[in-house]
Amino acid sequence: MFGKDFQRKYALTDQGVKNTKQATLWTLIVNLVVMGGMGILYLMMSKYMDTLTVGAVLPGAGLFLLIALVFVVLSFITHLQQYRATYGLVYGEVKDVRISLAERMRKLPLGYFGKRDLADLTETIMGDVNRLEHVWSHCLGYLYGSYISTAIVAIMLFVFDWRLAIACLWGAPVAFILLFGSRKINKRHSEITKEAGIQVSDGIQETLENIREIRATNQEKKFLKELNDKIDYHEKTMRSGELSCGIFVNAASVIMRLGVATTILTGTGLILSGKIDFMVLFMFLLVITRIYAPFDQALALIAEMLMSQISASRLMEIYDTKTADGADEFSPKGHDIVFENVGFAYDNEQVLKQVDFTAKEGEVTALVGPSGSGKSTLARLAARLWDVPEGTIKVGGVDINTVDPEVLLGDYSMVFQDVVLFDDTVMENIRLGKHGATDEEVKAAAKAANCDEFVEKLPQGYDTPIGENGAKLSGGERQRISIARALLKNAPIVLLDEATASLDVENETRVQGAISRLLSGKTVLVIAHRMRTVEAADKIVVLKEGKVAEEGKPSELMKKDNGIFKHMAQLQSDSAGWSIAQ
Ligand code: ADP
Repeated sequence: MFGKDFQRKYALTDQGVKNTKQATLWTLIVNLVVMGGMGILYLMMSKYMDTLTVGAVLPGAGLFLLIALVFVVLSFITHLQQYRATYGLVYGEVKDVRISLAERMRKLPLGYFGKRDLADLTETIMGDVNRLEHVWSHCLGYLYGSYISTAIVAIMLFVFDWRLAIACLWGAPVAFILLFGSRKINKRHSEITKEAGIQVSDGIQETLENIREIRATNQEKKFLKELNDKIDYHEKTMRSGELSCGIFVNAASVIMRLGVATTILTGTGLILSGKIDFMVLFMFLLVITRIYAPFDQALALIAEMLMSQISASRLMEIYDTKTADGADEFSPKGHDIVFENVGFAYDNEQVLKQVDFTAKEGEVTALVGPSGSGKSTLARLAARLWDVPEGTIKVGGVDINTVDPEVLLGDYSMVFQDVVLFDDTVMENIRLGKHGATDEEVKAAAKAANCDEFVEKLPQGYDTPIGENGAKLSGGERQRISIARALLKNAPIVLLDEATASLDVENETRVQGAISRLLSGKTVLVIAHRMRTVEAADKIVVLKEGKVAEEGKPSELMKKDNGIFKHMAQLQSDSAGWSIAQ
């Protein structure tokens, strides 16, 4: 009952399965104690009836009181245990699941985050786990405990009187078949509702993230309308989902309760024909008021249980995705980066094909090529931000796919166009480059990256908070912070992605000095559209449609007739008025 399938279906951890077993056990005990109470009531009544019919002497009220007291104490203790086993344990479990999910996400290859966006993943950590928590605490133990207790009571009823037992219990299998049969329809509704909910979160997130652009381009009405439509659609899917589920659940509930009527009818018939006495019917009527009660709560939450299975499969998808693991040890011989037959595809779109070249230590290797030719992808692959599916990338002779990304990245400095900054001070944002760097070290790096000039103008200097993702800074300022970070880190491999694109001419010249310092003696892979950056490179790799089209020193490539690089250099020099040394 609580095997692997069950565990996956509700995304339970091993501890979660243990908790569910405990909750089931205590629910079973509670249900049996409650039924035991019915039994006591039945015995008391039959003793009382005996005094009326055969003139027996009623035992003293003290005995009844004692029995009642024992029952109340027992009931209290078992309910308390059940509460602890269902709610208490689950809250601990929820915390563990969230932490293990976050841990897992940390290890997933970056490519995964392109497939499932931020709103979607946030929904999993918060919404999906919340929904599951509710099911773990309110449904599983109750439902499974009730299955077993009902089965036990049903057997006892059959032993007592099989005719009345059938009259009392026939509704249960019918209701069960009805619910089981409607599962597919309800699950489909749940999936549609879930998808619509994610669309709403996506829409809200997109609107908030792009609020500046939306205002600047006067698109508020369009965006709000789209968002309203998504919310309306979500509401519609929820309503129809609940309606469909409600119909089946209530029908099942009514069918089960029809058992009361059939029991009274059958019982009356049996009494009239003299086959049973009134006390037997009385006992069945007592039991029937309780037998379906434990299911009520679970039935009311059946829609949530179905929804939770979707949440569970979303959670399991994260657990099932292969993580980017590897050795904790990384001791390469030097830092040459060797690309061997590297191929890569986003979904089905092949972006890189048989890329073969070496970026040598102590040299600047510039990647050039038209936009979309795969330069950024290649730079990211070099840092194992995605795993290389075809071919290999080796650093100092070590296949990077075999090294834990966190360890590997210790040897990389990256200055990418999309600088990521945290809602913290300038100082702390730069310090991210090197854990435990002193304030002096941070300031020295900042100075070398020309941050001084704008930091001095900030109200609290280096201690000024820069807002979420550096919202209070300009593009150039953000980029200088990222250069300062890289300088502070001083890693042997540097990946530069159009590092100077957001800088004006004056700043670019100043930062160029800092970059030269950053690059000296390192293995440098730079993505450059600008010929000026390329001019200083030791080697150029020209990518075209994901393949290496040309490779060599800038001066060599300039000599190639009809060369792509030569053509690009000429185009740039025509427009910018500068030329490359031949
Ligand atoms: P470049 O840096 O040369 O402009 P990129 O490496 O950014 O080229 O992109 C190469 C191709 O891969 C483009 O066609 C781009 O649309 C596609 N691409 C880039 N990033 C992704 C992504 N995260 N998901 C899907 N396709 C992508």
